[in-house]
Amino acid sequence: MSKPKRKRYVVVPGQGDPCPRCCQPTQIREHSEVTEKHRRQPFYFSRWFHCTNPQCKAQMICPERFKVWNPHLNARRRDNLERWLVSHHAQKREQRAVMDSVDRGQLVLWGDAWPDEAPTDTSGSAPWE
Ligand SMILES: [Zn+2]
Repeated sequence: MSKPKRKRYVVVPGQGDPCPRCCQPTQIREHSEVTEKHRRQPFYFSRWFHCTNPQCKAQMICPERFKVWNPHLNARRRDNLERWLVSHHAQKREQRAVMDSVDRGQLVLWGDAWPDEAPTDTSGSAPWE
């Protein structure tokens, strides 16, 4: 971005939905200006919520109801895109669920609980089977 730095959003008065991750209140934001660039995309969000909790990883919450589809997008392309987004989101959710259980200490990916010596016998079935 070579343009001078300026705020690309404005804060809308009022409060958004509570953060789905941490339940803290959220700020409503919208683009300071919807540009040609936004309109060229398959869709953009007219508004979104910003989590006010600095510790929260969600930060930006984009509810479906604020999604603005490009009216020039043909139906098939939009269908494909929506399908892709659904599977993409499902994947993300799964990743997030894993990271959450790591945070809560329910699942250890790496760290102290990792066995000093990983099983070396790879000939048979997996050790957890
Ligand atoms: Zn949050």
